[in-house]
Amino acid sequence: MKTNVLGYPRIGSQRELKKASEKYWKGAVAFDALYETGKNIRKQNWLLQRELGVDLIPSNDFSFYDQVLDMSLTVGCIPDRYHALKNDKDQIDLYFAMARGIQRDGYDITAMEMTKWFDTNYHYIVPEFEKQQEFVVFSSKIIDEYQEALALGIKTKPVLIGPVTYLLIGKEKEEGFHRIALLEKLLPAYMELLERLSARDVEYIQFDEPCLALDLTQQEKEAVSHCYGEIAERFPHIKVILTNYFDCYGDNLTTVLSLPVDALHLDLVRCPSQLDDILNSDQLNKNMTLSLGVVDGRNVWKNDFESAVKTIEKAVAVLGEEKIWIASSCSLLHCPYDLELETDEKSLPAEVKQWLAFARQKVEEITTLKSIATGDNSAATIQKLEANRRANQIRKASRHIHNPEVKSRISQLTAADSKRISGFDMRKARQKEKLNLPQYPTTTIGSFPQTREVRSWRSQLKKNKISKAEYDELIKKETEETIRFQEDIGLDVLVHGEFERNDMVEYFGEKLEGFAFTNFGWVQSYGSRCVKPPIIFGDVLRKDPMTLKWSAYAQSLTTKPVKGMLTGPVTILQWSFVRNDQPGSLTCKQIALAIRDEVNDLEKAGLDVIQIDEPAIREGLPLRKEYWKEYLEWAVESFRISSSGVKDTTQIHTHMCYSEFNDIIASIAELDADVITIETSRSEMELLDAFVEFKYPNEIGPGVYDIHSPRVPTEDEMEKLLIKASELIPVDNLWVNPDCGLKTRDWPETRSALTNLVNTAKKMRARA
Ligand code: GLN
Ligand code: ZN
Repeated sequence: MKTNVLGYPRIGSQRELKKASEKYWKGAVAFDALYETGKNIRKQNWLLQRELGVDLIPSNDFSFYDQVLDMSLTVGCIPDRYHALKNDKDQIDLYFAMARGIQRDGYDITAMEMTKWFDTNYHYIVPEFEKQQEFVVFSSKIIDEYQEALALGIKTKPVLIGPVTYLLIGKEKEEGFHRIALLEKLLPAYMELLERLSARDVEYIQFDEPCLALDLTQQEKEAVSHCYGEIAERFPHIKVILTNYFDCYGDNLTTVLSLPVDALHLDLVRCPSQLDDILNSDQLNKNMTLSLGVVDGRNVWKNDFESAVKTIEKAVAVLGEEKIWIASSCSLLHCPYDLELETDEKSLPAEVKQWLAFARQKVEEITTLKSIATGDNSAATIQKLEANRRANQIRKASRHIHNPEVKSRISQLTAADSKRISGFDMRKARQKEKLNLPQYPTTTIGSFPQTREVRSWRSQLKKNKISKAEYDELIKKETEETIRFQEDIGLDVLVHGEFERNDMVEYFGEKLEGFAFTNFGWVQSYGSRCVKPPIIFGDVLRKDPMTLKWSAYAQSLTTKPVKGMLTGPVTILQWSFVRNDQPGSLTCKQIALAIRDEVNDLEKAGLDVIQIDEPAIREGLPLRKEYWKEYLEWAVESFRISSSGVKDTTQIHTHMCYSEFNDIIASIAELDADVITIETSRSEMELLDAFVEFKYPNEIGPGVYDIHSPRVPTEDEMEKLLIKASELIPVDNLWVNPDCGLKTRDWPETRSALTNLVNTAKKMRARA
């Protein structure tokens, strides 16, 4: 029996890689310094895994930016616009230009596109393919890192993205071909790599093919068979580990079981049932090793040893100990580094901490599970098993997890709770009377610039350098100035500016029961950007109002309507580590009730417009279409629970910022928000098409100002966009607003851009 880790976090336990990369980008250090940082992280990761007893230690799981971009460089898939940079000695400026774009030394080249890695919050750089795409081994990273580990006395298992997944997650940059047709051209580059690795006596290679968790066409399935057939034929002595994760093999199982691979990895956290399917299949080849992904690589909970051992024993009974490995369900990239760094009881109480395991602890779990499953009766192993049992028992019974008040409220929910009093037309009329807004009403998405000063107040408060009263005064002043600014330029629906918020999820988590936080629980989101998701460990309860004070204060300053600003239940759920002892749909409804109470309080305090942001609804979609319906049903219901406790006259807004509405437009309509604001400016209103085609009935604010860029849009540009929108959407339903919140912008550009935006709305009114 072997232990197998699919990949390890690489940002550094103190985010060393983030810091070093950002210094390099600023020109503050030379590449040597960044290179050394990377080398140290790799070394630490390898030595740690060896020390903890991992048999199959990954290499090439490190990356300076992204593992998919690494693969593009490895096979020489470099778009033409970067070719001038190809002579760069370390390839690093080329690499970062592809990742981030380059605007210096006479270059002005845009970055490659970035998108989410399956259903995670990790973003990869999307490969770009041309019809005549050529592939040649361009970067030797895989070989270099293998050698580097070898020099430390560690024979690693190189990890590669499999050729089929690599093609499928990319994009055709011209018409007239499907990227899967490039396989014949891509395979020789992989063969060349394998040749070089095999010359260095590599024993195992891990091919990641998470596309096997998707619905594949017959042609794509054949591509998988073809590819691994060829590899086995050319390199019979290399042991191929084929991995899939994030969901079942599903109906790709027949294809996969007939592949000539040495080991097949199963994500048994996301799909426990597939083990029985495989063990009972007549197709099962008894020479194939199964890598059992029983330790969750996507979440932070301690493993349940008793149940994992049962699973392992079942597989051992069929295949024998030799053919069973114990593994993480996927790469540990999606977990924070080390739980032992968390010593602040206020963020993470000891009771909750004992239920958790981060990457390092998960590796220990994997090796302990092997000890238990192979009959190690040493005192140390028995003690670990006992401690694990105890922690999990305490968790099941904890009063801090189970709150009868929350459970009873959930059980009393009825259909009426997720339904507004009247239909949209009636509400529209009543809101019109109450709010008396002009045509083309103007508003913003919520946040105003989070300047360094604003952030410094928060950190001073945290360090007790200023009192809560002093902090509140500063925030009040900033809020008041922002209200005055919005009045001055003539915006119609104002916002308070969100100056008191660190992050749109963390802020709410900190005010709700059932949430815990970490100080070092960073997870890579993309490049040097990391997030620190809250941990939802128990029933969610709102004890006190969360936003009321600031919204009510802002409303008290003005006679114009101020929009209350909340994060929606689905987004809070998606951007947290979620408890695994009940379905996510139930946790979501608990959060929905907390938001509902807040919405109702805001209404009582005189806020007639309330926005519930749901930027994460789209990314929560399951990988396989068969599960979409169920997900969308509870996601929509949760939003509606949070938004339906108000009078007809109260106007509910929602906001979303992503590019794919086609698949979910019917569900977006079912949210029944009175107004939705979306991101559209960069796509020239193309994203409105889904709404137009669907005849979306409620009001829409298609963004006319790209807030991702410091550029100030001109009145002419915005007018063109609005004219286009007015030809697509009934003018009575149109709002005028930016694409998203302004927190990453500076004040001068914000002032100019919003002034132009209001002026443009006035021009539109004059035209009408
Ligand atoms: N209200 C939030 C803001 O303006 C919305 C952020 C988002 O959509 N991601 O910052
Ligand atoms: Zn947004």
